[in-house]
Amino acid sequence: MIESLIRKHLRSFQPYKSARSEARAGTILLDANELSVGSPVSWDGVSLNRYPDPYQHELRHELAIRLGFPEEMIFLGVGSDEIIDLLLRLFCEPATDRVAILEPTYGVYRVAANFNALRVATVELDPEFQIDLSSTLQDLQSGAKILFCCSPNNPTGNLLRREDILTLCVKWRGIVVVDEAYVEFAGPGSSLAEAVGQHPNLIILRTFSKARGLAGIRLGYAIANPLIVSYLLSVKAPYNLNAVTLSLALRALKDEQFVGQACLAVSGERMRLQNELPKFSSVQRIYPSSANFLLVEFHDAGIVYNALLGQGIIVRRRYEERLRNCLRLTIGTASENTRLLSVLEEIR
Ligand code: PMP
Repeated sequence: MIESLIRKHLRSFQPYKSARSEARAGTILLDANELSVGSPVSWDGVSLNRYPDPYQHELRHELAIRLGFPEEMIFLGVGSDEIIDLLLRLFCEPATDRVAILEPTYGVYRVAANFNALRVATVELDPEFQIDLSSTLQDLQSGAKILFCCSPNNPTGNLLRREDILTLCVKWRGIVVVDEAYVEFAGPGSSLAEAVGQHPNLIILRTFSKARGLAGIRLGYAIANPLIVSYLLSVKAPYNLNAVTLSLALRALKDEQFVGQACLAVSGERMRLQNELPKFSSVQRIYPSSANFLLVEFHDAGIVYNALLGQGIIVRRRYEERLRNCLRLTIGTASENTRLLSVLEEIR
C-alpha cells in the first residue's frame, strides 16, 4: 500500500552511490577525491578532510536505541524542514497532487508545497484548534496525498487529540505526518511514535532544534516505516548531514539530563507568564500551551508588537484572520520574561 503512494518514477529509481557507501572498513581511503594531507581546522577529533558517513549509521543507531525503534525506522535530515521537503518530493507529483494542511499551523508545510508546485488543501482546525474529523476526512478525499498534523501545534501550542490522528491513519489511505517538534515540552505520553508500528502510513517528525537546544546544528529526524526510510535515504543529498553536526549530536545524546531540565525550566516560566499576563489590560486571552511558547490574543496585537519591538523584544506575529490579534511569545529565560512583562505593563 505504501509503495503505491511513492511517485512512480522513484519506485525504480537508482540512487547515487557515494564513495565508501559499499566499503566501510578501508584504512587507505583513495576513493572520494578528498584531500588526503589533512584539513586547516580541527573539530573534536573528527577527520574534517573526510566526507561523513552518508547513511549516518552511528547516530541513527544511538538514536534508535534511545527511542526503542530499529535503526531502519530512523531517517535524519538537515532539520525537520529538510524532511518536510523530501517527503513532498517522495510522495507528491508536481502540478497534480495535493498536500493537506490543518490551519492555523506551521508555515513551512505550505511554502514547501508551493515550491514543489503542489496544490494545497486547507482544512481549518475547530475553534479549540482540534481536528474536525468529519470535515477533515471529507476534504482529504479531494485527492490529497499527504496530511501534515502538528502536535503540539505551532502557533497555537495545543496537542492534537491522538484518537483523531489515529482515526485518520485508519480511515484515510494517504500519508499522515505528525510533526512533534515540540513534543518533549508536552511531557511523557504525548508522542504518537509508538503507533508507527501499527500504522505504516504514519510518519513522526522530531527535531534537535527545540528541547534539545541545538537549532544551530540543523538536525531533525523522522520515525517511519522501514520502507519509507529506505526511500528517503535514496532521494536525499548524498551527504546531507555534516561531520560536525553528527559529532555534536552524539555528544548531546549522552547528556541524559539536559532535555528534562530544560523542559522543567520552560514549564516553570510558561506557568509564570500564564499567571502574570492576564493582569495586563492589553491581554484578551491566553491559549493553553504544551510547547515552549504561548499564543496570546491582545486587544490590538499591532500596538503590542510595535511596543515590544521598540524595546528590542521580537515576537512572532501572524496575519491570518483567525489570529489577527495574536502574538506568539517564545518562553525566554527568567530575566528575558521579566523584561517582557515590564514592557507589557507599560502598555495601556
Ligand atoms: N516543525 C515545527 C512545527 C516547527 O515549529 C519548526 C521550527 N520552527 C520546525 C518543524 C523546523 O525545525 P528544524 O529546525 O528541525 O528544521
